Formats: sequence, C-alpha cells, structure tokens
Amino acid sequence: MMQCSQAATRRAAATMLLNARRAKHYKVLTVGGGAGGLAVSSTLSNKLGKGAVGIIEPSSVHYYQPSWTMVGGGVHQFKDSMRDQASVMPRNADWIQDYAVAFKPEENKVVTQNGDEFTYDFLVVAAGFQLDWDKIKGLKDALGKDGVTSNYSPKSCEKSWEFMQAFKGGNAIFTQPDCPIKCAGAPQKIMYLFEDYITRQGLRDKTNVTFMQGLPAIFGIKKYADVLTNICKDRDIDVQVNSVLKEIKPETKEAVFQQGDKTTTVNYDYIHVTPYMSAPDFIKKSSLANAAGFVDVDQYTMQHVKYPNIFSLGDCSSVPTSKTAAAVASESGVVKQNLLAALEGKPLPAKYDGYASCPLVTGRGKLVLAEFSGFTGQPLETFFFDQGKERWSMYSMKKDLIPRMYWDQLITGLWNGPTNVRFLTNPLGWQQFSA
Ligand SMILES: Cc1cc2nc3c(=O)[nH]c(=O)nc-3n(C[C@H](O)[C@H](O)[C@H](O)COP(=O)(O)OP(=O)(O)OC[C@H]3O[C@@H](n4cnc5c(N)ncnc54)[C@H](O)[C@@H]3O)c2cc1C
Repeated sequence: MMQCSQAATRRAAATMLLNARRAKHYKVLTVGGGAGGLAVSSTLSNKLGKGAVGIIEPSSVHYYQPSWTMVGGGVHQFKDSMRDQASVMPRNADWIQDYAVAFKPEENKVVTQNGDEFTYDFLVVAAGFQLDWDKIKGLKDALGKDGVTSNYSPKSCEKSWEFMQAFKGGNAIFTQPDCPIKCAGAPQKIMYLFEDYITRQGLRDKTNVTFMQGLPAIFGIKKYADVLTNICKDRDIDVQVNSVLKEIKPETKEAVFQQGDKTTTVNYDYIHVTPYMSAPDFIKKSSLANAAGFVDVDQYTMQHVKYPNIFSLGDCSSVPTSKTAAAVASESGVVKQNLLAALEGKPLPAKYDGYASCPLVTGRGKLVLAEFSGFTGQPLETFFFDQGKERWSMYSMKKDLIPRMYWDQLITGLWNGPTNVRFLTNPLGWQQFSA
C-alpha cells in the first residue's frame, strides 16, 4: 500500500515535470543548434542568464561540416569533424532534444515532435538545409557503393577518399545541382583534391576529369570564376555548365544529365555527387517561409519581414548570399546586436553586408581564398594581398586554423566575422575591386 502511494507520488511528480516542460517560456528560443544557432545562443545565454534561452536541437552529435571536404580528400580524419552535442551546448541555455515541427507565430509558440509547445519573447530560426537525396533518381541506393560518393553526408564523405585510393583510371565526374547549396565551392574542391591525388599516383594520363555544373557559371563571383576557369584549363579539366544530374544507374555505371533540351548519358568510374538541398519541410510549410521556402527575413537586419520578434540566419534564411559557416559568423553578429536591442525596445543598430567566404582548395597545399559580398557580387577580402592567387598559407589556414576557430570562437559566440579586423589586415581595401 505504502509502495503504491510512493509510486503514485512519483508518477504525479513526473507528470507535473512534463507539464512544466510543456509550459516552458523562454526569453529567446532557438530552433537549431548548428553553427548559427549556437553562435547566437552562446552569447545571448551568457548575457541573459541561466534558463532564459532554450535551444531545440534533435541531434546528439555536432558536426564541423566544412571538414568533410578535407575528409573526402584524405587530409582530415572524420572523427575530428564531430563532437557530442552536449559538449558544445552553451552552459546557461536549456537543450530541448527534439525536432521542431511547427511554428505558431501568432501565439509565439513552437511545437516539437513530442507534442511539447514552447513559447518565447523572441525566436531565432537556424535549422540549416535539408538534403533532398531523392531528387536524383537512383542516388540514394547507389551512394557509398562502387565509386558513387558525396562529401555532403557524414555517412559517405570517407568513401570519397576510399574510392579515390582504389581508382585505377577512367572517367571521374563531379556534379553540382542547379539550386542554392551549402558552400558552392565544395563540389569543385573535392575535384581538385582528386585531380592532384591521381596526378601524384601517375594516373592522370588515363583519367578524364569532368565538372558537370548545373548552374550557368563555374562560380558565382567573377574574380574567382576567372581564376577557377584558368586552373581547369591548365589541368585539362572539362567544365560543362548548365548540366544537371538527373539519374544514377549503378548497374551500368552511367550518369544521366540534362543539358538544355538534350539528355546526355556518361559512363563513370568515380562520381562525386552534390545533392539537391532546400530549407527543411517544416519551415517550407510554415507562415515564416517565402515563396522559395526560406525564412523570410530582411537581408540587412535579419529580422522577419512579418513577425518582428523572429530572426533567422544561416542556410535556412532567405538572405541572398552564399550558404557558408563564414556567412553565419557575420550574420550571427548582426542577429545578436539587433536582438539584444529589440529586447530593450530599441531600434535595430546592425546591418549585414552580405559577407561570405569560400576557401577554394585547389589541390594539396593550394587554396584560393574567395571572400565577397553576396549582395554586391564584389570581393570583400580580409588580407592586403591578392586572394585570387593559389597560396599555401591560405591552405594551411583552412586545414589547421579555421577548424579551431569554428570550435573555439564561432559556436561559442566569440567570432562575428572579419568585418571588425579588416581595417587592420587590409586597410586600403586592396584587390577588392579588381574584378
Ligand atoms: C561538404 C561541406 C563543405 C562545406 N565547406 C564550407 C567551407 O569551406 N566554409 C564554410 O564557411 N562553410 C562550409 N560549409 C557550409 C557550412 O557547414 C554551413 O553553411 C553551416 O553549417 C550553416 O550553419 P546553419 O546553422 O545554418 O546550419 P547547420 O550548421 O547545418 O545547423 C542546422 C542545425 O539545425 C538542426 N535541425 C534540423 N532540423 C531541425 C528541426 N526540425 N528542429 C530543430 N533543429 C533542427 C540540425 O540538427 C543542425 O544541428 C560546408 C558544408 C558542407 C556540407
């Protein structure tokens, strides 16, 4: 009898706890604990104190995704690209380990997969991209087998290196879809690492290397597009633009491309596929989304165009710049300043300039550091020298320094992009307008 009543008391306490959780209100609620979500929440939870910030993040592992290019090229170890999510969560923030599934902005509420509902004064949406593997026929089943690989998945990025080492010559194809993707240079970076590797192995004469770009240009910013075009010419890499991968046929090792009105089928021995990507479905179907499915924010203030107490940054936001962790750093500085001002009812002080960067690895020990504004299409370079040249120093920075900056500075809220250091490192704006 006594045991029964103790069990009932425990059950009642558990139910109360559950109800308390369901009713939890946050000053700032963040959806997504990736690069952008952590960069913002780390600073805000420090400033606002324990329990004021909640982070909805389902994953128990946090990945440093830019490393997967180097994993695929045999430079980094995969295990070093991951950490327990618990170890990177800000100490003062509550971690709600669940999926956000719906927004109720009129009630200042987010619903999770468990059915819990969290309310907020301010909401930050940083849920990244979803990878639409199904949009290329046959890809999902073929991935990770028999020469078909992608650095865009933690499950297959190691395969890029494994298949590269097993390659004995033939057709090597690298694809990019005709849509916005994370790090628009990454589909090429692995190609340059591949070409470098097989050259060192003495296999270059037996190999055709082709870049099948779904978009009309090799890269979106002219200064760096010209550099990359010349590199491809020098290395005998065939670049075909407006070439969209439609299907993989693993049984015959064929890839089917749409090139304008024409359908072309090519044999492959090694194929690195960049899948289609889009904002996550739960955002697309919400009233937060624009027509393209992204969280509809003002590109300068990062504030939602309809709901002033919502901000968004990173891959899932509508901001028209390159989808990179580098862009996230600058965006996070703007979101933090503006959100802290909004919490005090003050006007929003910060404006984003569209800064993004793409460290274009062009071989082992070689890198062109593209830095630009996605708003103007013009270079916005941090250093006083011409960043349009391949450099070992920039490669070392990508390989050794930037990963440390990500773990120690970006996701801890200490790095808000290079805008504040540029006046020291490139006081005259050297090379910025050389495009
Ligand atoms: C192969 C590769 C190479 C790259 N190279 C570079 C590079 O060289 N330089 C560079 O700057 N950037 C690079 N990037 C891009 C960079 O990693 C992303 O742009 C950056 O991580 C975006 O940050 P984010 O916060 O928007 O999204 P993410 O960091 O992807 O975080 C999104 C978070 O949201 C969570 N989430 C998803 N669904 C839900 C949900 N329903 N509810 C709650 N949470 C959810 C996810 O679990 C994740 O933790 C690369 C990416 C890849 C894949």
